[in-house]
Amino acid sequence: MDRIYLDNAATTPLSEEVIDAMVDVMKTNYGNPSSTHSLGQEAKILIENVRRQVADYLHVTPAEIIFTSCGTESNNMIIKSCVNHLGVERIITSPMEHKCVAETVLDMKKRRGVEVVYLRPDQKGDFDLIQLEEIIKSSDKKTLVTLMHANNEIGNLLDLKKVAEMCKANKVLFHSDTVQSMAHMEIDFSQIPLDFASCSAHKFHGPKGSGFAFIRKASGLKGIITGGPQERSLRAGTENVCGIVGLGKALEISLNNMDQYSSHIKEIKKYTKERLLSEVDGVKFNGRSAEEETSLYTVLSVLLPFKDPMIGLKLDMKGIAVSQGSACSSGATKPSMVMMMILDEDEIENCTPLRISFSHLTTKEEIDTLVDALQEIAVSFNIEKTNVEHR
Ligand code: PLP
Repeated sequence: MDRIYLDNAATTPLSEEVIDAMVDVMKTNYGNPSSTHSLGQEAKILIENVRRQVADYLHVTPAEIIFTSCGTESNNMIIKSCVNHLGVERIITSPMEHKCVAETVLDMKKRRGVEVVYLRPDQKGDFDLIQLEEIIKSSDKKTLVTLMHANNEIGNLLDLKKVAEMCKANKVLFHSDTVQSMAHMEIDFSQIPLDFASCSAHKFHGPKGSGFAFIRKASGLKGIITGGPQERSLRAGTENVCGIVGLGKALEISLNNMDQYSSHIKEIKKYTKERLLSEVDGVKFNGRSAEEETSLYTVLSVLLPFKDPMIGLKLDMKGIAVSQGSACSSGATKPSMVMMMILDEDEIENCTPLRISFSHLTTKEEIDTLVDALQEIAVSFNIEKTNVEHR
């Protein structure tokens, strides 16, 4: 059975060039980057080249990039160190954050007594930035604002520049989980005065287990993993050289092809929307995901007009991989926090959210197969429903 992969917000397939670059490093550059001999130093140079490449992409200095094992680690490190080392006593966040931010914030509340204030979204999943500023100004406590750039379930984009400028003007720290947007769009931190951000290579055809944290110079942040002096003592442990090289290669490919990839994906997303609207009666789109300007182009969050908790499984049996929420909450039968925030009671009771996420590899033929499968499920569902009503 041919597989159709439409879950690229969960992870992306590794590109061949990334695999080749990593295999090459595994075979050749086995030196420890902390060793002073040439094998070690060669490995060190590979890491520093990627650090420079990432820094150039973000318009920051290489010293502000700390390689980590993933987005989760980057977000943990930033939030925990803000509390443990920078004296943050209050965190302003939202119920729309990824679990690795949400749970870390709760952990800081439980273990360190940090006050947590939630900025609630409206039904489109947007935040009222006037309200955010009011909350920021309502206390003198040392504050961290943590709000994600692109929502992993509905794709809504935050105006990073506006929020960063607001935080700077009010002298509060600002962290953004940028895991879904990194390498998919131009990001210039020389123009966006945020303090911290995060990245995960497997979201743009790089390897799992490789990411980085952006930590603004002189922030005073410290690491959570102690040990050797690697990564400027912010992240002890021998570096994942082949993972970092894989991240660099994936970033290089993404940036070199950004225009081509994004226009292809936007076209595919538009096609998916149109086909769904014409083939599935009553279909809707969640948050801003159907809008081009205000959402991440890789994500389309669909609301199907029938309740089918088994839909992910049914599609999987047809060889189609999609998500019923984010990867971390799929498999759970109750709707995700994001859906609870933006859907009304009737929609939660009677509809099924589905996240379709694309890559440059997605084809219109694959979308046709998905739409046919959804149409078939919708029709069978109606028939089942009719049968139940007749019994
Ligand atoms: N933040 C967001 C928005 C994500 O979508 C994800 C992954 O799904 C993460 C963080 C976690 O990244 P990682 O899988 O690298 O830990």
